[in-house]
Amino acid sequence: MAETTDDAAVARLIAWFGAEGADLPWRRTRDRYRILVAETQLQATQVARVAPRYERWVARWPTPAALAAAPLGDVLAEWQGLGYPRRARNLHQTAARIAAEGWPPADRLQDLPGVGAYTAAAIRCFADGEAVLPVDTNVRRVLARRFPGGWPGTPEGEGWAVGQALMDLGRTVCSARAPRCDTGCPLRRGCPAADAGVVAEVTPRARRQSPYAGSMRQRRGAILRALAAGERPELGRDPDAAASLLADGLVARRGARLVPVGAP
Ligand code: SF4
Repeated sequence: MAETTDDAAVARLIAWFGAEGADLPWRRTRDRYRILVAETQLQATQVARVAPRYERWVARWPTPAALAAAPLGDVLAEWQGLGYPRRARNLHQTAARIAAEGWPPADRLQDLPGVGAYTAAAIRCFADGEAVLPVDTNVRRVLARRFPGGWPGTPEGEGWAVGQALMDLGRTVCSARAPRCDTGCPLRRGCPAADAGVVAEVTPRARRQSPYAGSMRQRRGAILRALAAGERPELGRDPDAAASLLADGLVARRGARLVPVGAP
Protein backbone atom coordinates (compact mmCIF):
# COMPACT_ATOMS: atom_id res chain seq x y z
CA MET A 1 0.00 0.00 0.00
CA ALA A 2 1.39 3.42 -0.91
CA GLU A 3 2.57 5.51 2.03
CA THR A 4 0.49 8.45 0.94
CA THR A 5 -2.90 6.74 1.05
CA ASP A 6 -5.36 7.57 3.79
CA ASP A 7 -5.10 4.01 5.10
CA ALA A 8 -1.39 4.48 5.69
CA ALA A 9 -2.13 7.77 7.42
CA VAL A 10 -4.51 6.01 9.79
CA ALA A 11 -1.80 3.45 10.58
CA ARG A 12 0.66 6.27 11.34
CA LEU A 13 -1.93 7.94 13.56
CA ILE A 14 -2.38 4.76 15.60
CA ALA A 15 1.40 4.30 15.92
CA TRP A 16 1.78 7.93 16.99
CA PHE A 17 -0.85 7.49 19.66
CA GLY A 18 0.89 4.36 20.93
CA ALA A 19 4.09 6.39 21.42
CA GLU A 20 2.74 9.83 22.35
CA GLY A 21 -0.78 9.32 23.67
CA ALA A 22 -1.54 10.88 27.04
CA ASP A 23 -1.99 8.59 30.02
CA LEU A 24 -5.38 9.68 31.33
CA PRO A 25 -7.34 7.90 34.08
CA TRP A 26 -10.37 7.18 31.89
CA ARG A 27 -8.07 5.46 29.40
CA ARG A 28 -7.36 2.75 31.97
CA THR A 29 -10.93 1.50 32.00
CA ARG A 30 -13.45 0.03 29.59
CA ASP A 31 -16.29 0.39 32.06
CA ARG A 32 -19.30 2.12 30.53
CA TYR A 33 -20.23 4.01 33.68
CA ARG A 34 -16.72 5.40 34.12
CA ILE A 35 -16.55 6.44 30.48
CA LEU A 36 -19.92 8.16 30.88
CA VAL A 37 -18.68 10.04 33.96
CA ALA A 38 -15.47 11.13 32.23
CA GLU A 39 -17.18 12.23 29.03
CA THR A 40 -19.83 14.17 30.93
CA GLN A 41 -17.19 15.97 32.97
CA LEU A 42 -15.06 16.66 29.89
CA GLN A 43 -17.91 18.38 28.07
CA ALA A 44 -17.31 21.66 29.85
CA THR A 45 -13.92 21.37 31.51
CA GLN A 46 -10.35 20.89 30.33
CA VAL A 47 -8.62 17.52 30.52
CA ALA A 48 -6.04 18.53 33.15
CA ARG A 49 -8.72 19.83 35.50
CA VAL A 50 -11.04 16.89 34.98
CA ALA A 51 -8.48 14.15 35.75
CA PRO A 52 -8.35 14.58 39.57
CA ARG A 53 -12.09 15.30 39.75
CA TYR A 54 -12.88 12.15 37.76
CA GLU A 55 -10.71 10.03 40.05
CA ARG A 56 -12.37 11.46 43.14
CA TRP A 57 -15.82 10.87 41.66
CA VAL A 58 -15.31 7.22 40.75
CA ALA A 59 -13.61 6.56 44.10
CA ARG A 60 -16.66 7.98 45.88
CA TRP A 61 -19.28 6.43 43.58
CA PRO A 62 -17.66 3.51 41.73
CA THR A 63 -20.88 2.16 40.21
CA PRO A 64 -24.21 3.46 38.92
CA ALA A 65 -25.91 1.95 41.98
CA ALA A 66 -23.59 3.86 44.34
CA LEU A 67 -24.26 7.13 42.54
CA ALA A 68 -28.00 6.50 42.39
CA ALA A 69 -28.08 5.97 46.16
CA ALA A 70 -26.49 9.38 46.85
CA PRO A 71 -28.71 12.43 47.50
CA LEU A 72 -28.75 14.81 44.53
CA GLY A 73 -27.50 17.58 46.81
CA ASP A 74 -24.28 15.61 47.47
CA VAL A 75 -23.87 14.92 43.75
CA LEU A 76 -24.22 18.61 42.89
CA ALA A 77 -21.77 19.56 45.64
CA GLU A 78 -19.22 17.10 44.24
CA TRP A 79 -19.79 18.59 40.78
CA GLN A 80 -18.88 22.11 41.97
CA GLY A 81 -16.55 23.84 39.52
CA LEU A 82 -17.27 21.50 36.61
CA GLY A 83 -19.97 23.76 35.16
CA TYR A 84 -23.49 23.06 33.91
CA PRO A 85 -25.02 21.33 36.99
CA ARG A 86 -27.85 19.91 34.87
CA ARG A 87 -25.26 17.46 33.60
CA ALA A 88 -24.69 16.18 37.14
CA ARG A 89 -28.43 15.80 37.62
CA ASN A 90 -28.69 13.91 34.33
CA LEU A 91 -25.82 11.65 35.39
CA HIS A 92 -27.63 10.97 38.65
CA GLN A 93 -30.88 10.14 36.82
CA THR A 94 -29.02 7.95 34.35
CA ALA A 95 -27.32 6.09 37.19
CA ALA A 96 -30.72 5.45 38.80
CA ARG A 97 -32.11 4.09 35.55
CA ILE A 98 -29.12 1.81 34.97
CA ALA A 99 -29.18 0.61 38.57
CA ALA A 100 -32.85 -0.33 38.15
CA GLU A 101 -32.95 -1.61 34.56
CA GLY A 102 -29.36 -2.24 33.46
CA TRP A 103 -27.73 -0.64 30.42
CA PRO A 104 -29.79 -0.30 27.25
CA PRO A 105 -28.44 -1.83 24.04
CA ALA A 106 -25.84 0.25 22.20
CA ASP A 107 -28.33 1.71 19.75
CA ARG A 108 -30.57 2.93 22.60
CA LEU A 109 -27.95 4.73 24.70
CA GLN A 110 -29.45 8.07 23.71
CA ASP A 111 -32.59 7.15 25.64
CA LEU A 112 -30.62 7.83 28.84
CA PRO A 113 -31.01 11.31 30.39
CA GLY A 114 -28.39 13.71 29.05
CA VAL A 115 -26.82 11.18 26.67
CA GLY A 116 -26.69 12.70 23.20
CA ALA A 117 -25.15 11.46 19.98
CA TYR A 118 -21.61 12.37 21.02
CA THR A 119 -21.72 10.69 24.44
CA ALA A 120 -23.42 7.59 23.03
CA ALA A 121 -20.66 7.30 20.42
CA ALA A 122 -18.00 7.80 23.11
CA ILE A 123 -19.43 4.95 25.20
CA ARG A 124 -19.58 2.68 22.18
CA CYS A 125 -16.03 3.55 21.16
CA PHE A 126 -14.20 3.89 24.49
CA ALA A 127 -16.06 1.29 26.54
CA ASP A 128 -17.28 -1.19 23.96
CA GLY A 129 -14.39 -0.77 21.49
CA GLU A 130 -16.69 -0.31 18.52
CA ALA A 131 -15.43 1.38 15.37
CA VAL A 132 -17.65 4.39 16.02
CA LEU A 133 -16.05 7.84 15.94
CA PRO A 134 -17.03 10.22 18.73
CA VAL A 135 -16.74 13.59 16.97
CA ASP A 136 -16.06 16.46 19.35
CA THR A 137 -14.64 19.86 18.39
CA ASN A 138 -11.07 18.55 18.21
CA VAL A 139 -11.92 15.52 16.12
CA ARG A 140 -14.14 17.58 13.82
CA ARG A 141 -11.20 19.87 13.11
CA VAL A 142 -8.78 17.02 12.30
CA LEU A 143 -11.31 15.41 9.99
CA ALA A 144 -12.04 18.68 8.18
CA ARG A 145 -8.36 19.40 7.60
CA ARG A 146 -6.88 15.97 6.98
CA PHE A 147 -9.79 13.86 5.69
CA PRO A 148 -12.12 16.27 3.88
CA GLY A 149 -13.47 13.40 1.81
CA GLY A 150 -14.57 11.53 4.94
CA TRP A 151 -12.97 9.14 7.40
CA PRO A 152 -11.24 6.37 5.41
CA GLY A 153 -12.25 3.60 7.82
CA THR A 154 -11.05 2.12 11.08
CA PRO A 155 -8.83 -0.98 10.98
CA GLU A 156 -10.27 -4.09 12.60
CA GLY A 157 -10.04 -3.96 16.39
CA GLU A 158 -8.68 -0.39 16.50
CA GLY A 159 -11.87 1.53 17.31
CA TRP A 160 -10.70 2.59 20.77
CA ALA A 161 -7.20 3.60 19.65
CA VAL A 162 -8.46 5.59 16.65
CA GLY A 163 -11.00 7.51 18.73
CA GLN A 164 -8.45 8.37 21.41
CA ALA A 165 -5.74 9.20 18.86
CA LEU A 166 -7.92 11.67 16.97
CA MET A 167 -8.84 13.39 20.24
CA ASP A 168 -5.20 13.71 21.31
CA LEU A 169 -4.07 14.86 17.89
CA GLY A 170 -6.72 17.57 17.74
CA ARG A 171 -5.95 18.71 21.28
CA THR A 172 -2.14 18.74 21.12
CA VAL A 173 -1.03 18.90 17.47
CA CYS A 174 -3.81 19.82 15.05
CA SER A 175 -5.04 22.59 17.32
CA ALA A 176 -7.28 25.46 16.29
CA ARG A 177 -4.81 28.29 16.86
CA ALA A 178 -1.30 26.79 16.61
CA PRO A 179 -1.28 23.60 14.54
CA ARG A 180 2.12 21.89 14.50
CA CYS A 181 1.96 20.62 10.94
CA ASP A 182 5.71 20.44 10.39
CA THR A 183 6.82 19.71 13.93
CA GLY A 184 5.44 16.36 14.91
CA CYS A 185 2.19 15.73 13.07
CA PRO A 186 1.96 12.06 12.02
CA LEU A 187 -0.61 13.02 9.37
CA ARG A 188 1.43 15.73 7.66
CA ARG A 189 2.26 13.64 4.60
CA GLY A 190 -0.69 13.93 2.25
CA CYS A 191 -2.56 16.47 4.38
CA PRO A 192 -4.73 18.47 1.94
CA ALA A 193 -5.09 21.53 4.20
CA ALA A 194 -1.36 21.78 4.96
CA ASP A 195 -0.36 21.10 1.34
CA ALA A 196 -2.66 23.87 0.14
CA GLY A 197 -1.58 26.26 2.91
CA VAL A 198 -5.14 26.71 4.09
CA VAL A 199 -4.98 25.15 7.56
CA ALA A 200 -6.25 28.26 9.34
CA GLU A 201 -9.12 28.57 6.89
CA VAL A 202 -10.15 24.92 7.39
CA THR A 203 -11.04 25.38 11.03
CA PRO A 204 -14.67 24.71 11.90
CA ARG A 205 -16.02 27.49 14.06
CA ALA A 206 -16.40 26.64 17.72
CA ARG A 207 -19.77 27.48 19.19
CA ARG A 208 -19.51 30.86 20.87
CA GLN A 209 -20.37 30.94 24.53
CA SER A 210 -22.19 33.89 25.95
CA PRO A 211 -20.21 35.78 28.64
CA TYR A 212 -20.26 34.16 32.08
CA ALA A 213 -19.91 37.34 34.12
CA GLY A 214 -23.33 38.60 35.14
CA SER A 215 -25.11 35.68 33.46
CA MET A 216 -27.85 33.51 34.93
CA ARG A 217 -25.31 30.66 34.88
CA GLN A 218 -23.09 32.64 37.20
CA ARG A 219 -25.97 33.54 39.52
CA ARG A 220 -27.17 29.95 39.70
CA GLY A 221 -23.59 28.84 40.30
CA ALA A 222 -23.28 31.24 43.25
CA ILE A 223 -26.31 29.66 44.94
CA LEU A 224 -25.10 26.11 44.33
CA ARG A 225 -21.66 27.01 45.66
CA ALA A 226 -23.20 28.44 48.81
CA LEU A 227 -25.24 25.27 49.33
CA ALA A 228 -22.17 23.10 48.82
CA ALA A 229 -20.40 25.19 51.46
CA GLY A 230 -23.15 24.41 53.97
CA GLU A 231 -25.07 27.69 53.68
CA ARG A 232 -28.84 27.83 53.35
CA PRO A 233 -29.35 30.97 51.22
CA GLU A 234 -32.56 32.92 51.40
CA LEU A 235 -34.78 32.76 48.33
CA GLY A 236 -34.95 36.53 48.26
CA ARG A 237 -31.20 36.82 47.74
CA ASP A 238 -31.67 36.17 44.01
CA PRO A 239 -35.31 35.18 43.37
CA ASP A 240 -34.90 34.61 39.60
CA ALA A 241 -31.88 32.35 39.97
CA ALA A 242 -33.59 30.52 42.83
CA ALA A 243 -36.74 29.99 40.73
CA SER A 244 -34.66 28.71 37.84
CA LEU A 245 -32.83 26.19 40.05
CA LEU A 246 -36.09 25.08 41.66
CA ALA A 247 -37.68 24.58 38.24
CA ASP A 248 -34.73 22.39 37.22
CA GLY A 249 -35.01 20.35 40.42
CA LEU A 250 -31.44 21.29 41.37
CA VAL A 251 -32.36 22.75 44.77
CA ALA A 252 -35.20 22.33 47.25
CA ARG A 253 -37.03 24.88 49.32
CA ARG A 254 -37.55 24.93 53.06
CA GLY A 255 -39.60 27.93 54.10
CA ALA A 256 -37.84 31.03 52.81
CA ARG A 257 -34.54 29.25 52.32
CA LEU A 258 -32.98 27.00 49.74
CA VAL A 259 -31.58 23.61 50.76
CA PRO A 260 -29.83 20.82 48.84
CA VAL A 261 -32.12 18.23 47.25
CA GLY A 262 -32.32 15.25 49.56
CA ALA A 263 -30.91 17.12 52.55
CA PRO A 264 -32.09 15.64 55.87
S1 SF4 B 1 -0.62 18.48 8.89
FE1 SF4 B 1 -1.45 20.20 10.05
S2 SF4 B 1 -3.57 20.43 9.36
FE2 SF4 B 1 -2.85 18.43 8.66
S3 SF4 B 1 -3.54 17.04 10.27
FE3 SF4 B 1 -1.43 17.63 10.77
S4 SF4 B 1 -1.60 19.41 12.14
FE4 SF4 B 1 -3.60 19.09 11.14
